[in-house]
Amino acid sequence: MGSSSFRSPRLSRLSLPVRVLWALPYSLLGLLIALPACALGARLRRHDHTLECTGGRLPRWMQRLPNRHRIVAITLGHVVLAVNSSAMQQLRAHERVHVQQYERWGPFFGPAYVLESLWQALHGRDAYRANRFEQEAYAKGGPFTPGPARMPAASS
Ligand SMILES: [Zn+2]
Repeated sequence: MGSSSFRSPRLSRLSLPVRVLWALPYSLLGLLIALPACALGARLRRHDHTLECTGGRLPRWMQRLPNRHRIVAITLGHVVLAVNSSAMQQLRAHERVHVQQYERWGPFFGPAYVLESLWQALHGRDAYRANRFEQEAYAKGGPFTPGPARMPAASS
């Protein structure tokens, strides 16, 4: 199935301030993690209209997330958190697709993502790999480029 059923052309044409506001609840959640992480040694930098936070204690924190995959990067609105700068570089295109999904779905993205995973799991498919949001991110974000920090893992 293509990703066209997930696209809303009208939403994608919204101006940047509107898209940033629409995704703000999740971006604030991302900042709630990124700011203490920075205080404890993580690095925060702006990349286009997205904040990228890497390193510090993020690897330790991410390993505590309830996910059977080892998470190396996660996107919350316009905040992308990654275990290190190498992982960020490898996953940037993938995570950027998730940023666009937050901009499209706004406050509904979280519930939509979870429901989609549940739906796939109920049909005997992998809740992560078969999730259409992930499939769109893998399709548009391209394959991960190999690098020293590559882990046999998933991102969110
Ligand atoms: Zn993903």
